[in-house]
Amino acid sequence: MSDTATVFDKILDGELPCHRVYEDEHVLAFLDISPLAPGHTLVIPKQRKAFLHELDDEYAAAIGRALPRIARAVMAASGVDQYNVLQNNGRGAHQAVFHVHFHVIPKIEHRGLGISWRPG
Ligand code: C5P
Repeated sequence: MSDTATVFDKILDGELPCHRVYEDEHVLAFLDISPLAPGHTLVIPKQRKAFLHELDDEYAAAIGRALPRIARAVMAASGVDQYNVLQNNGRGAHQAVFHVHFHVIPKIEHRGLGISWRPG
């Protein structure tokens, strides 16, 4: 493992645990360690790329197939029918972990976050 490995690389390598929600050949989804709402899930490609625009088509397509399935699972588990899907690229865009990931966040009034998420 290189020094630049992210925490998500370590999760993919089994060096760090996660609460797994979904997995296939190209995609892993797990609960966010610091959820904005109960059920906040992260969806990552198994390809190790920092930014969405770097993903190979194979992994981009797999993420596209997996996201609706994962959204249905998050809805069923959290009991809500509204949610946000967010994806940040670059430090200035609030990306903290430099491995591509999508947030699936149930829309639950929680910790006073009763507003829709917006960038900035
Ligand atoms: O889009 P951004 O890079 O800001 O999001 C990173 C997300 O990864 C955060 O929501 C953070 O809580 C989550 N995270 C995690 N497990 C870690 C480190 C970060 O779920 N070990």
